[in-house]
Amino acid sequence: MTRKKGARLMLDALFKPKSVAVIGASNRKLTIGYRIIQNLIDSEFQGPVFPVHPKAAFIKNLPAYPTVKDVPYDVDLAHIVVKNTLVPSVVEQCGEKGVKVVIINTAGFKEIGGDGIDLEKKTLKIAKKYGVRVFGPNCQGIINSDPEVRAYCNFTFTPLEAGRVSLFAQSGGVGEVINNRLFELGAGLRMYASNGNAADIDVCDILEYWAEDPGTKVIVVHVESLSDPKRFLDVASRVSRLKPVLGMKSGRTELGARAVSSHTGGMMKQDTTTELIFRKAGIVSLSNEEEICQAAVALGSQPAAKGNRIGIVTNTGGPGIIVTDEIIEAGCTMPDLEHERQILLKEKLYPEAIVSNPIDVLATATPEHYRMAVEALLEDPNIDIAVVNFITPFFVDTEGVAREIVDLASKAAKPVLPVVMTNKSGWKKTLAIFAEAGIPVFDLPETGGRVAGVFAQHAALALKKEEKPFSPTGIDTESAQSLIESAESDAYLKQADAFSLLKMYGIPVTEYAQARSPEEAAEKASGIGFPVVLKVESSDVVHKSDEGGVILDLKDHKAVTDSAKSIQKIFPGASLFVQSMVEPGTEIIAGAFRDDPAGHVIMFGLGGILVEVIKDVSFRLAPLTPSEADSMIAEIKAAPVLDGIRGQRPKDRDAVREIILRLSSLLSDFPQIAEMDLNPIIVYEKDRGAVVVDARIRIGNQLKE
Ligand code: ADP
Ligand code: MG
Repeated sequence: MTRKKGARLMLDALFKPKSVAVIGASNRKLTIGYRIIQNLIDSEFQGPVFPVHPKAAFIKNLPAYPTVKDVPYDVDLAHIVVKNTLVPSVVEQCGEKGVKVVIINTAGFKEIGGDGIDLEKKTLKIAKKYGVRVFGPNCQGIINSDPEVRAYCNFTFTPLEAGRVSLFAQSGGVGEVINNRLFELGAGLRMYASNGNAADIDVCDILEYWAEDPGTKVIVVHVESLSDPKRFLDVASRVSRLKPVLGMKSGRTELGARAVSSHTGGMMKQDTTTELIFRKAGIVSLSNEEEICQAAVALGSQPAAKGNRIGIVTNTGGPGIIVTDEIIEAGCTMPDLEHERQILLKEKLYPEAIVSNPIDVLATATPEHYRMAVEALLEDPNIDIAVVNFITPFFVDTEGVAREIVDLASKAAKPVLPVVMTNKSGWKKTLAIFAEAGIPVFDLPETGGRVAGVFAQHAALALKKEEKPFSPTGIDTESAQSLIESAESDAYLKQADAFSLLKMYGIPVTEYAQARSPEEAAEKASGIGFPVVLKVESSDVVHKSDEGGVILDLKDHKAVTDSAKSIQKIFPGASLFVQSMVEPGTEIIAGAFRDDPAGHVIMFGLGGILVEVIKDVSFRLAPLTPSEADSMIAEIKAAPVLDGIRGQRPKDRDAVREIILRLSSLLSDFPQIAEMDLNPIIVYEKDRGAVVVDARIRIGNQLKE
């Protein structure tokens, strides 16, 4: 059997168990052992349930057994709800019985540290011996709403309702909140998993399983930390090609919010890396539970979008503007319809109707008007997503309008997102038309706009996946290798070495040389050509210029010797770094730090001292694709500076992009690079290039907080 097939069969025993034993079942209502039995009964689990209890003959009306080994039938899945210290022996019994998977609800393992860690190891070892797979410990369990299974192997309260969204939540609390919200939205759930300590079966196993589950149309993942980010990236990238994956990470901070120094590593704390992993894996990252639920339900019932161009139909102006604000903030566009289509609509709609985007069909619009307007959006090649605002007037056949929207939405190849603003008890029948057709509606225009933004993000991520990675020409990996290997570990490279390394990867740097004495500096300066810049060579100094370690624009021999002397006065015995003085231009910063085990995080922003205050920086995980480099540049607020503001000529964006991509190649080839900071890179006008004037590169261990 292949490993993959084996893994799937193993998860079949978890998600589609033919029988379930509950070890630690109880007749006392306020216990987990009671609740799991009750939930299996309430959800009409399609297989037998075997309560295990040392003394009781029955748990509820089900015959109970003293140990799992006494159950006279095969047991696929066993819930373990006994005291933590008893778990190893119970797992042993499960092994002897031939149980395939155990859900260990019991807490008191790795999460408590000390003895708990040993207990978890011991339990796993026993499970391995018998080939029993472990879900948990310290977890809730699973739910599968497949009508042929109906396994509610969990102790939570949300009723089982079949849907198309499968939900993984590291935190059981968050999982239950999302599950409950999906239920309230009338959407239900396909499968659910909350695996607590994840000692064995992990999020990746589950994602792979759901990727192959035809009933799962959308996957929602909530994580707090990723134990194996590389594997997650790999698995999630594959899964997100097959179906939309929405991710939520709690404990996040806004990127760049903690920028405290020009030290790249200090610009971002570890917990934001998960979002970068999401993005790279093609997971749409969302920040709140409501949005994730609304988006998941819509993605589950509507086709994916091909782009970010939104068309809006509305029968009242204000809500149309609210949708507009939301989608523009989400980076979408709102093109007008093709001219002929506008003319046609002008003829068919009320004369006062507006046929540009948003199309305002007016409050008295008839079902036919709605049909024509929505159809126009669906047929127009400039539009990828249709948002249909509908406020229900007394004087309109609202059920007729609903039927037209539903008819189009059910057949469309583009997503149709209806926002129905109404009095829910007064317009029950109208709403029921949507519900019966499985077309989700939003109560508020901002929700519709946000969800449209999620469809657009998903489209962008899907497009990006087709992209080939960047492969640089003219790099000298061998020389770079020997430079890095001979570098002192856990120390900054000398500036000359840092510049050499960048040069080997085709990153433009100024002319440079190192010198020990003022005389040597002057000699090297003549070789480079005046004017030059003189800098102190010291790995202890983060901001050389703040401490008098940078002297610019030295025009002759004497200026260099004098300046060298003054630098050596401030830094006795220090070596010197001589550089050609380059023309002023726009200063940018690019940097990176290694965030093990996820890899290198690359940063980009406008340079200068303001970067520390404004925190206007963007981050991505290496290696970068060309479009990732583009979006890093476009994402910062100051990006228009590169286009040239107030009459300035545009800057050489291509040169910036090339530097970022080459930087990414350098990092991918050399995981030994712990951090680097190119600050500033001076960028010139279009076609005139960019050049690095200051570089700090550290080889060695990960940056420590
Ligand atoms: P610091 O250690 O303070 O960051 P830098 O080497 O970045 O020192 O130099 C400080 C500033 O001096 C830069 O931001 C840049 O404006 C200017 N500068 C440095 N080197 C050069 C150079 N070779 N040509 C022109 N300007 C330079
Ligand atoms: Mg600098």
